[in-house]
Amino acid sequence: MGKYKPPKVRKYGRGAQVCSRCGSHDAPIRAYGLHLCRQCFREIAQDMGFRKYR
Ligand SMILES: [Zn+2]
Repeated sequence: MGKYKPPKVRKYGRGAQVCSRCGSHDAPIRAYGLHLCRQCFREIAQDMGFRKYR
């Protein structure tokens, strides 16, 4: 013990962005200033009042 291991930080490429809601690296969506995976985006979109095109 004693050695400091810095956290792995990726600024570019795969895994650079994670879902700001669940922390998943799964296909984050950058829309409306959000960083969400597809699943969280759907849930939040409903909360925010987004609707499907009629
Ligand atoms: Zn998510």
